[in-house]
This record gives sequence, structure tokens and C-alpha cells, in this order.
Amino acid sequence: MIVVMRADATPKEVELVASKIRELGYQARPIHGVERTVVCVLGQVYPELMDELLVLDGVETVLRVSKPYKLASREVHPMDTVIRVGDLRIGGGHIVVMAGQCSVDTVDYTLATARAVKRAGAHVLRGGAFKPRTSPHSFEGHGKKGLEILAQAKAETGLPIITEVLDPRDVEIVAEVADILQIGSRNGQNFALLKEVGRTDKPILLKRGMWATMEEWLLAAEHIMSQGNHKVILCERGIRTFETNTRFTFDVNAIPWVKRESHLPVIADPSHGTGRWYLVEPVALAAVAAGADGLLIEVHVSPDHALSDGAQSLTPENFTRLMERLRVLAEALGRPLHPEVAQTSARGNGQIS
Ligand code: PEP
Ligand code: MN
Repeated sequence: MIVVMRADATPKEVELVASKIRELGYQARPIHGVERTVVCVLGQVYPELMDELLVLDGVETVLRVSKPYKLASREVHPMDTVIRVGDLRIGGGHIVVMAGQCSVDTVDYTLATARAVKRAGAHVLRGGAFKPRTSPHSFEGHGKKGLEILAQAKAETGLPIITEVLDPRDVEIVAEVADILQIGSRNGQNFALLKEVGRTDKPILLKRGMWATMEEWLLAAEHIMSQGNHKVILCERGIRTFETNTRFTFDVNAIPWVKRESHLPVIADPSHGTGRWYLVEPVALAAVAAGADGLLIEVHVSPDHALSDGAQSLTPENFTRLMERLRVLAEALGRPLHPEVAQTSARGNGQIS
């Protein structure tokens, strides 16, 4: 961190800034230029320090030099992280597709959707048992019963499961069924939950908060990683903007930006990012072209009967067409679709490389 003093700052003001820095346990190195003095702060700083120094007399501005996120940053881990889920590798040059219902509903619909996405080439089955809803009057998921239905779908198809956990108290039971734990957009700053999943050894798909800057999103990943779990998969799912024709604004910029800043794999969710089924395919392809390591897509055998997010859910036919186009694009990009996973094996589960 560098404190830039005003051109008219007095030597006494410079000395007071330097002594404040030392008082906080850092080294202070003043550099006297022709026009002004800057004071370098040496040591592992915290973000709020900027504001604390900015208000001192004689200070013009404070500049940050190193990243506020460390564990998630390429500064400390230059190589791409690849996360293993059974035989599946997330990150590292293959495209992985996670697909299924927004929320688990009936056994018949869930199993039929699971079979359909597997047939089309999906690698992971998604489905929410615990649903975060804006209104408490909306369907909040079948909870434990939903987890049982997911376990049944996994047993039948062999597809690994991704499902959301909302409450730190449910992490254990959700982790019994889930191969990947999902942290939803609304929980991007639920630090108790982030820390709790950080204490498991499951891969965590961390959705970007709909209001979160890219930096806040990486700091959320940092919260998980600070507890020892480095198996974090970032997921861009759209942010709130002034636009109302789509449900959210899918932020394609975020994909190459976080790929550049962070070594963690990045998945795109064009279903929530657009909120309209007919926008899902073009935005999915754009996200992969922009560098995403994979997709999270909502599919339902009967979107009209979905208990949540039917308007953005693809039919199996539309999902199959998306997969066909994705296959062509992925080959052309030199990042082909990941080979199909035959069975979820315990081998390599949750390993990281
Ligand atoms: C979901 O994946 O169904 C979901 C609720 O997503 P988000 O947290 O991105 O809104
Ligand atoms: Mn949904």
C-alpha cells in the first residue's frame, strides 16, 4: 500500500502518517520526491487500512498495490486449479456441463429430467432441494425428501450431483448426497455459511452475488478457502442492472476477468443470467467462447410444470440442441467437451491439482 501525501503536506504530517503506520505493526518507508512525498506501507495489509490512512492530515490518496484476495489469486497460485469429482475434472481445458431442474419436484419428473440430460451429454445433475426464494410464500423446496430423490437419480444415472445448501446447520446432510455443494447468489456474503462449507472437503460452486463486484466475489471465495477448502468453482450467474427485459444481466466480462485474476475454474449460468429459455443457448455459447470452463443449465421435461424457474428452463430437445452446438464450438476453441462420465466413482473425489 502506498500513501501519497499532498504537495503541501508538512514534514510533521508525513511523520505522523509514518508513525501511525508503525503503530499498526507495519513498516513505513517515506520516499521524498521533487513535488511530494509518498509513504510505502510494508506488510500484509487489510482492506479497511486504506480508509484509516486516507483520513489523516496531509494525505492526498492511498493506493493499493497487492490484491486483497490472496488464496484465490494467481499471484500465489499461477497455474489453473483442476477439481476432480470422481472421473470428472473441472477446469484444465475441458468443458463440463451441469444440468437439471431448478428445484427437485416429483420423482417422475426428476428421474425423467436426469435421464434426458445424461442422454444429451451432461456430466453433472443439478437440482435444488433447499430453495432460496425471494418470497417466503414461494415453493422453498422439498428439503430432505428432495435430497432422497436426488440420491435416487444419482443411483440410476451415475451422474454426480450438485445441489444448494442454504443453512450452515444443513451442510452435513446435504454433503451426504451432494458431490458439489452450491452456494447461491443470495448467500454470497453469508460468511457463516461460506466458512462452514470451507470446513468440508467437498467442491463448492460459488455463485456470484447478484450485487457483488468481481472483487467481492473473489473475497467470498477467499472466505471458503481461508478454512482450508481450496476446491472452489466460481459461477457467474448475472448481476442486477437497470435493464428489465431480462431477469438479470449476464456479465460476460466477468469470465475473462476472473480467469485472469484467479486460478479457480469458472462456470457460467446463463439460465439465471437471462431468465428466458430462448436466451440461454446464445449466452451459454458466448460464455464458453469467453473462456468459461463449463455451464450450469436449468432443464425440465415439462417446464410448464416446474415449481420454480420454468420460464428459463430448457426442454430436453432444446438442451440437446445446445449440447450439439456446444460440442462444435468447444472443438473449434480447442477446449473440447469433457468425455462422458460412466459412473461416479469414489476415486479421486474432490481432489485438487
Ligand atoms: C439456482 O441455481 O436455482 C439458484 C437459485 O440460483 P441463484 O442463486 O443464482 O439465483
Ligand atoms: Mn433456478
